[in-house]
Amino acid sequence: MTSTSTSGATVYGYPRQGANRQLKKATEAYWAGRTDADTLLAAARDLRSKRWVELRDAGVDEVPSNDFSLYDHVLDTAWLLGAIPDRHAAVAEGLDRYFAMARGTAEVPPLEMTKWFDTNYHYLVPELGPDTTFALDPTKPLAEFAEALELGILTRPVILGPVSFLLLAKDPAGAAEPLELLDRLVPLYVDLLGQLRAAGAEWVQLDEPALVTDQPTAVLERVAEVYAVLAAERVRPKILVATYFDRLGDALPVLAAAPVEGLAIDFTGPAAANLDDLVALGGIRGKRLVAGVVTGRNIWAADLSAALSTLETLQDLAGMVDVAASCSLLHVPLDVSLESDLDPELVGWLSFARQKLDEVVTLRDGLTEGRAGIQEALRVNADRLAARAASPIVRVAAVRDRVETGARRVSPYEKRRQAQQDRLALPDLPTTTIGSFPQTSALRKARAELRAGRLTDEVYQEAMRAEIRAVIADQEDLGLDVLVHGEPERNDMVQYFAEQLDGFLATRHGWVQSYGSRYVRPPIIAGDVSRPAPMTVEWSTYAQGLTARPVKGMLTGPVTMLAWSFVRDDQPRGETARQVALALRDEVADLEAAGIAVIQVDEPALRETLPLRQADRAAYLEWAVTAFKLATSGVRDDTQVHTHMCYAEFGDVLQAIIDMDADVISLEAARSKMAIVADLTAAGYPNEVGPGVWDIHSPRVPSVEEIVGYLRTAVAGFPADRLWVNPDCGLKTRGYREVRATLTNLVAATGQLRAEA
Ligand code: GLN
Ligand code: ZN
Repeated sequence: MTSTSTSGATVYGYPRQGANRQLKKATEAYWAGRTDADTLLAAARDLRSKRWVELRDAGVDEVPSNDFSLYDHVLDTAWLLGAIPDRHAAVAEGLDRYFAMARGTAEVPPLEMTKWFDTNYHYLVPELGPDTTFALDPTKPLAEFAEALELGILTRPVILGPVSFLLLAKDPAGAAEPLELLDRLVPLYVDLLGQLRAAGAEWVQLDEPALVTDQPTAVLERVAEVYAVLAAERVRPKILVATYFDRLGDALPVLAAAPVEGLAIDFTGPAAANLDDLVALGGIRGKRLVAGVVTGRNIWAADLSAALSTLETLQDLAGMVDVAASCSLLHVPLDVSLESDLDPELVGWLSFARQKLDEVVTLRDGLTEGRAGIQEALRVNADRLAARAASPIVRVAAVRDRVETGARRVSPYEKRRQAQQDRLALPDLPTTTIGSFPQTSALRKARAELRAGRLTDEVYQEAMRAEIRAVIADQEDLGLDVLVHGEPERNDMVQYFAEQLDGFLATRHGWVQSYGSRYVRPPIIAGDVSRPAPMTVEWSTYAQGLTARPVKGMLTGPVTMLAWSFVRDDQPRGETARQVALALRDEVADLEAAGIAVIQVDEPALRETLPLRQADRAAYLEWAVTAFKLATSGVRDDTQVHTHMCYAEFGDVLQAIIDMDADVISLEAARSKMAIVADLTAAGYPNEVGPGVWDIHSPRVPSVEEIVGYLRTAVAGFPADRLWVNPDCGLKTRGYREVRATLTNLVAATGQLRAEA
């Protein structure tokens, strides 16, 4: 136990890529065979040193290690514990085996990838089975600890804890419940802790974020047992158990009672409730408390005074209080000072990873020296917050005063259906696609040239029109019923709209890791959102003018716009979603007025934004569904509203999907062999549905027979007159060869079913 009562500043992780995305370049060069493993590893080592020095020089007292990764920290943990599937062990050695697990090879598929809790980071799902034998390979954490020590920096290694590791893993065969393997796993952690201690580590951080999701008592009992076992070891560093992203709830007393030396707890966002819970519990007086009071997952400057108040309250509740960001800074961009294009006033409102270090350090000083010690920082911060709150960018009267419109279609579905049938006259089992056609390198190049000023707007627009002509002609040749314009003009389904809506900001360097070497630059919703001008009408009407068949207008829904952006923190998300919805409602109205008879509003992110705690879900779904309906309900009966979602398990949101009342929904279904159809039928899904018949994640072309099989399953389980035929998702990542081949088969299979009817 630390006897001193001075507070320290720390974080759990820092962006991995480097200011120039060196890590991305180095790994991709290695994958392409342009460099060797030594070159990649040297680049990684160099980046790590720079990060450690940067954190130390920023004033961080306890710098983390092992938060760096060549690909993903969950994959690193699988590697650490020897949870390596046979198929990967068989194809390669060392680094190549690691990357085989991450990305697959020509012969074997990679581990499955999924979202890291409710963030936009994706981790690789460890594969475990009843026969898994774990074997410790502590090379990475030990080497990184030693590297930092050589720089004179005593780090706190960060390791994914045993319970969360197993809860995040999966047995693809379904034969084992991963948590059953806990007893097999714990001795490896014991061994690891001993080795870290021998190397000189004083503290180790074991991350257990799975404890902020609803867990049955039986799991919490296992947590208590495991940490009792780990803590009982004599030779080990002090253990800091870290959780983040939401409140601990029933897990809080369990961790508080565990014989570990420290807890790192999130006090931001939905996790703010941890403060009251900790007070109610009477604190954790014998322990070190690392208090996450600066959000690690949003980009707004912290309210330093409010954070300091939280810290002051916490000081009475723990043996010692350290200041931290709420979670790893991996989830925010590196440094706002790189944003030379942003208005300097706006820059002052923002805090990226580098600025969060300053906030954490300032708060530490405030905690140790009292408010007077950081008077100037508090004043500057208060001024900036006040300026932001009063800014005309943030609060736009015309948006706020807009009168509430109804969020319900004029007529019930059955009546709309008749009007739409009369207008569209579609055959049974209408065929369509989800929106995008292949984003060819020529399209991407044209966009890059336009940005670089080497292409005039006019030439660029004509290139896009040429693409639309080709895509429409293709679809007519293929014999599809409801066409799309192909989205050639869109860089990204969120960014494209963010660039055209007021209230959104774009960054130049705000890269955030999505997975592996893939980074995205999420837009920032900074103020009240409105639509200064139509966004898609020209493209849609151009496409519609080329064909007698209906062309779908294509928009991104309010929930997805929020989910893939950084959202403002000064009003509830539901209010921001409402503003985006109203902007989209205007676009929908303009599309309808321009003669577009079918309008699709995509909501692929609806499910992934579900709150981690069951208790918070109803409120979320309420505003999410309302926003969708607000965006889409302003149309006539004979305008057909579609939506699209792509994930296989949607039991949690089935009722919400019904409540959205889209005339047609297209869903991912091929990967799960149409399992969705039975769920829809069981739930009494009342409107029309297009369960996907092509898994677009792979270039494999399904045969006519295969698609006929899917369609037979669909028709057997769901009224045929309310079924559509379409792929699982957009085609932008596919090539024309497989797109044409598959759509040919899709149309042929549909013809076969129609003939049987
Ligand atoms: N309309 C989009 C497309 O086809 C939908 C993408 C998505 O669901 N992610 O690309
Ligand atoms: Zn999709």
